[in-house]
Amino acid sequence: MSVPLPAAKRLFGRWWRSQSPARQDRFATLGPLLSVLLFLAAIISAFWYLRNEEIEREIESVKRDTELTQQQVGLRLIQNQEALIRMARDMVERDADPEEFVAQAVAFARERPELTHLSWVDARRRVRASHWAMLYHPTPSGAQAEPLLPVESRVNEPETTFRAARDSRSPVYSRSFVDTTGAPVFQLQVPLVQRNAFNGVLIVEYSIDALVRHFVPADVAQRHLMSVLDEQEKVLAATVTTTPGQSSRRALIVSDAPLTPALNGLLLRGQGWRTSIGLVNNTLFWMVVALSVLTVWMLLGTWRHVRRRSQIQGALVQETNFRRAMENSMPTGMRAMDMEGRVTYVNAAFCQMTGFSNAELVGRLPPYPYWPPDRIDENHRLLQQELQGRSPSGGIEVRLMRKDGSVFDARMYISPLIDPKGQQTGWMTSITNITEAKRIRDQLSASHERFTTVLEGLDASVSVLSVQQGELLFVNRSYRLWFGGDAVGHQQLAGGAAGTTPFVADAEDDNDPLSGLPTQELTETGANPREVFVESLQKWFDVRARYLQWTDGRLAQMLIATDITARLRAEEQAAAQAEKAQVTSRLVTMGEMASSVAHELNQPLTAITNYCNGMVSRVKAESIAQDDLIAALQKTARQAERAGQIIHRIRNFVKRSEPQRQPAEARQIVEDAVELAGIELRRRNVAIHTYVAQRLPIIMADPILIEQVLLNLLKNAAEAIDSAQLPTQRRHIELRVVPRHTPEEGGVIEFSVTDMGPGIKDEVIGRLYEAFFSTKAEGLGIGLSLCRSIIESHRGRMRAQNLYNGQQAVGCRFAFTLPVETTVRIDATATPAEGETTPSA
Ligand code: ADP
Repeated sequence: MSVPLPAAKRLFGRWWRSQSPARQDRFATLGPLLSVLLFLAAIISAFWYLRNEEIEREIESVKRDTELTQQQVGLRLIQNQEALIRMARDMVERDADPEEFVAQAVAFARERPELTHLSWVDARRRVRASHWAMLYHPTPSGAQAEPLLPVESRVNEPETTFRAARDSRSPVYSRSFVDTTGAPVFQLQVPLVQRNAFNGVLIVEYSIDALVRHFVPADVAQRHLMSVLDEQEKVLAATVTTTPGQSSRRALIVSDAPLTPALNGLLLRGQGWRTSIGLVNNTLFWMVVALSVLTVWMLLGTWRHVRRRSQIQGALVQETNFRRAMENSMPTGMRAMDMEGRVTYVNAAFCQMTGFSNAELVGRLPPYPYWPPDRIDENHRLLQQELQGRSPSGGIEVRLMRKDGSVFDARMYISPLIDPKGQQTGWMTSITNITEAKRIRDQLSASHERFTTVLEGLDASVSVLSVQQGELLFVNRSYRLWFGGDAVGHQQLAGGAAGTTPFVADAEDDNDPLSGLPTQELTETGANPREVFVESLQKWFDVRARYLQWTDGRLAQMLIATDITARLRAEEQAAAQAEKAQVTSRLVTMGEMASSVAHELNQPLTAITNYCNGMVSRVKAESIAQDDLIAALQKTARQAERAGQIIHRIRNFVKRSEPQRQPAEARQIVEDAVELAGIELRRRNVAIHTYVAQRLPIIMADPILIEQVLLNLLKNAAEAIDSAQLPTQRRHIELRVVPRHTPEEGGVIEFSVTDMGPGIKDEVIGRLYEAFFSTKAEGLGIGLSLCRSIIESHRGRMRAQNLYNGQQAVGCRFAFTLPVETTVRIDATATPAEGETTPSA
């Protein structure tokens, strides 16, 4: 037996382990439930078995008692029958008379309480004598009742029995019947036979009730109900008198036996009801059931409880897994230690960070392996601080060492570990590697430093002002130097430029001038350079403004102001010099034209002389009429006037004057220039054709300077033609003035001078505008360079090109443009001071 038990145990253990935890739980719950139910079934079957046993015993007992009663009653009946047969024989032998019979009957009945009466009936049914038993009182009043006896004419039980006894000549028991008092009785009739002759019968009548009362043994009656039933199973007498209504209750155990030796259809019945183990009435059974139900109920309760627990446990496991996954996934190292500083836990990130394994760290006391040897003292101090809870909440920076000996910077945060009872059990430390962050921070600060160094080192002032609040967000050193720390300088720089929006919003002003403007567009608007003069500094600034989104998202205006005072001064000086050059150039031109001018003046002067000489001789000869004299004088005056006009015009041309732009008509300029050039052209025998388009817009220009350019171009053309000694048909120049529109310049007026000369030589074309470059022996070479600077100062353009006939250059064309927009704008604003921003203009 000892060998298979461990084997079975092992087998069970293997099976148990192969089950899933959920099934194990189910089995663990169902096991007790099943055993309780089995226990209950066992109890029930035990009860059932015992009860069956008892019922069997009871059946046996009832049967025995019934048989006992049957024997008792049967014995009595046989004794009585025999005594009666003896008595009958005796009476027949002695031929007894009725007195004798009564005496014998009295003696007979005295000892037999079961009898009601004894009667002697002869063969013809006449009653010879009758004796009522003493103990039997058929009527309570004591009045004599008639016994029921055989009557020939009547068919009743005594008569039937009488006939049977007569015919059989042997004792016959009657069937039961009811006597006159209503009591159930039966009779025994013993025939009186004298030498085979039937002489009558002796009748004894038994009271069934008395029979039951006296001959059912007392112990039997105590145990069971004994009753006598007739053929219809009607209860005639019983040991227990039942009330009529109750008789219907069926007994559990019934045992029947015929009433021997009467055999007259009467039945002796024994009945038993009681079994000591009635399941339904058994308290013990119900207690067991109740306890089992209670146990089952509690088991079910436990099961539910366990289920709830396991659900909670499942949730807990999930939570734990979640936290573990979270903890493992994060790059933050975690380390727990108890109150003495013993490491109780480290997470994966911590191991990865330090390079030590879990086993190498857990359980260690300080100094920890990840402390750099040169910093043990400091780390001890930090740990003490940590253990005493005095670590700063912002964390502390420490230097840790990896297993391979390399060190890294880390930031450590410490929080207390609290157990479920609310007691502190240790400290939890989280550690982040900040080497990279520190490197980035250092880089950032270095780059910031570089940035500020550059900005601070700038000669230009840089200032950023928030548009809404009007507060300075950034200024550099130059700004501070010039304007100090407040926003006034910024406002001066911004406000000084024409057309700038007053951007500093009043705190109470809800109408933000920039509200609703998309920031993107504003920040992308280009930095239009403006020149601003700051009174207090006596400086000119080139100011570039730009809207940008500040680091906190606010709209801000950045101004970069460069000091251009020196540059402007230089420009002013250059302009002054240019002016001088222009005047000089005009003087030079006039010098060159001196012989032409002299020739030109010579004509009127000669005419005047001739007129004067003619008049003098005619006046001397007195041959002149007054009218002729007046006409001659008028002619003289006209010639003098013409000479004066030439001189006046030349004077105007060479007069030194401030260059001044003013609304001017192209036609007028052209006329003046052609008039001056005419002197030279006539001398050189060159014709000029002029075409000026109708309705040209007014231009904004200095007419003398434009005239100078035109004169220069015409003179060059004439010189080229003259020097080439061209034939007459090629000695002419064309001057055209037309409006034009080009994609790059927009609307312009174009002046062009075309000659039929030899053209510009290839080697000359590249150096055309070079100062002091000339191909002419007496040429100064400053004409064209001056022309171009004049045109460009008017925002125009100048170009030269050769005209070809095949490969042959057949002339050249000099053209310059003057923009029309300027004209339009100036006409609209009409204030010359605002026209150009340069102060020198
Ligand atoms: P200058 O007339 O004193 O030589 P410019 O600057 O007026 O100085 O001219 C420079 C040179 O350009 C001239 O020497 C000449 O060679 C060339 N040039 C100017 N105009 C013409 C022209 N219409 N045809 C040919 N060559 C020209």
